[in-house]
Amino acid sequence: MLKDLLNGFMTQKEILAYYNANVSYKELPKWINGFVFNYKGINNIIINKNLSYYKRKNTIIHELAHIELNQLNRVDRVFETSINKYEDEADRYIKFLLN
Ligand SMILES: [Zn+2]
Repeated sequence: MLKDLLNGFMTQKEILAYYNANVSYKELPKWINGFVFNYKGINNIIINKNLSYYKRKNTIIHELAHIELNQLNRVDRVFETSINKYEDEADRYIKFLLN
């Protein structure tokens, strides 16, 4: 699914609908690009509103990778930047899809 977005076969809107996800832009500490959590079946992606357009897009893709890898119930995602194992996994997955 994320592969279809990266290849341009699916729009961001379509993939968000597929994963029952929504994106909100919030004031966050500058070391947090974004995070994702599941609440009552909805995947809530929170993005730092101070990011550039390009970084916002990349962060949404990164958070969608967490959803697609089904990592949300394994750890508390709120301070996800400190959970390096899962961060690496999400980034490696995106690299894999781009190859
Ligand atoms: Zn992450």
